[in-house]
Amino acid sequence: MSYQYDNKYPSDFEVKRDIVEIGRRMYARNFVAANDGNISAKVSDNTIWCTPTGVSKGYMTEDMLVLMDLDGNVLKGNLKPSTEIKMHLRVYRENPEVNAVVHAHPPAATSYAIAGLPLNHAIMTEAVMGIGEIPLAPYAMPGTEEVPNSIAPFVKTHNACLLANHGALTWGRDAMEAWFRMESVEHFALVNMYTNGLIGHANELTCDQVDRLIERRTNSGISTGGRPLCRNCGADGVPACVAGKCSSGCQSSGGASACGTSTCGTSSCGTSSCSCSEEDKQDAQMVAQIVQQILAKNGYGR
Ligand SMILES: [Zn+2]
Repeated sequence: MSYQYDNKYPSDFEVKRDIVEIGRRMYARNFVAANDGNISAKVSDNTIWCTPTGVSKGYMTEDMLVLMDLDGNVLKGNLKPSTEIKMHLRVYRENPEVNAVVHAHPPAATSYAIAGLPLNHAIMTEAVMGIGEIPLAPYAMPGTEEVPNSIAPFVKTHNACLLANHGALTWGRDAMEAWFRMESVEHFALVNMYTNGLIGHANELTCDQVDRLIERRTNSGISTGGRPLCRNCGADGVPACVAGKCSSGCQSSGGASACGTSTCGTSSCGTSSCSCSEEDKQDAQMVAQIVQQILAKNGYGR
């Protein structure tokens, strides 16, 4: 069998080596359990190596991998490809610039997917510049066409998405980029869990700050990642950002945000023109006390 290779793609050797390595990392980091998860990467415009079904990704060897074309035909390999490979094939069809796809069930990101919450708030500079906004694909019945259909809208504009009640999907220009994006998704999900869940408060970045971070991302050659919500934009009763500014009730100036509703928490009012009511201040003090109690209980601050 002959394939069309050119310099655009890594060799079979390189791709198979990377897939096996990513499988080990995925399993070792508890991003999957048992035989879960799948990885694929292109070696030509129309062929991919992918992981087999029924094999733990932590114990996979190169001879277990399957070569397929983008129509789903198996070209080489003794094992069956993953049943979730339809999702990968759809990513490649939607965006020809994608050369690798990773799917896993990392616990924090999967928890957000189960809660029905996208990771779409700008609270961390690196996340805005790197992984960007992480949207939530609607629930889809495993093994059906619903799954590829659910992720298709995000493939050209974003770098990753959550799969409702299921897990996470990332893609990239090569296998390691797709894997690092999966690491970034889980890391950002954990940070969201600590700030919003444990501490109960996150200072969102202002519209201006997000504008500058996205400009830097664009200058580094990444045009995907969407636009996460900046301070207060898209919150209850406040319109979402339009072209970098909230459509009304929120104008940023000099790094300070004057939003329609305030984020009166422990510190965010210090730089904005919003005014905190006494009730808000009491709430903030209560949150701070709870956090101090949790930290003390866990041996911090002694
Ligand atoms: Zn899965």
